[in-house]
Amino acid sequence: MRNKIHFGIFETTIFSLFLLVNPSIRAGVPGTNDSTGDDAEPRAPILSEKIGDAVQRSVYEDVYSIFLESNNCSRFFGGENALEVVNGLSSMLTRKNLNDPQVGMMMTGTYSNFKNMRTGFTYRLFEKNIINADGPFYHEVCSTSRECSRRIGSFLGFTREGRALMMLHELAHLMKGADGKWLIPDDGKSERQSEANTSKVEDNCSAQIRQLASTHFTELLAARKASTNTEAALKNRTNEDLTKQALLAELMLPY
Ligand SMILES: [Zn+2]
Repeated sequence: MRNKIHFGIFETTIFSLFLLVNPSIRAGVPGTNDSTGDDAEPRAPILSEKIGDAVQRSVYEDVYSIFLESNNCSRFFGGENALEVVNGLSSMLTRKNLNDPQVGMMMTGTYSNFKNMRTGFTYRLFEKNIINADGPFYHEVCSTSRECSRRIGSFLGFTREGRALMMLHELAHLMKGADGKWLIPDDGKSERQSEANTSKVEDNCSAQIRQLASTHFTELLAARKASTNTEAALKNRTNEDLTKQALLAELMLPY
């Protein structure tokens, strides 16, 4: 039992009842770029300035940067579509003391289903999304050896990597895989299941989490913009060439 930290969600039976009572799927998706078909824009806007505090902002940008690129982790989460779930969860996070130092994050209450009408991507968001002010997410200074040894998967809980894994774990509760099942099963009542879930997320995202130390969010965005601009320029050039060819063909038409 290496991972002593239980940061799962505490689901209740209300959830299935809620689906029966309210089977309609919400179409109003928070934080999406539905109105734009511009490939230069990420699938969901960057909400850094609206995120609670520096620690939350940092993990938001880390997870956003992972999903912005095509990699094993982003594919596990459904690609760039997952950005709107990051936005949805991050904008609903509240910092609160849960009086249990073992809990890092908690999602609870009823949940709502969302569907992006353009992409068809679906996910859920819980009513309450809490980061424990007294938990491993915020413990930057460990005063005892026991506290220092708390781990999230392979990482210390209060490190950049540990926080990212905590956030990715919670996000995996909100999205389904190709088989129609949640990426990880509910684990609010089972520490063992929570640990297995963390392992599954880490198995898919380990490389990206380990790369975070060398990732700079603003540089990543600038690089993406530059590459998209180059692609757009090449596309325009091709269109221009096609127009020239069409004109040439027209000029060569026999009268
Ligand atoms: Zn969990």
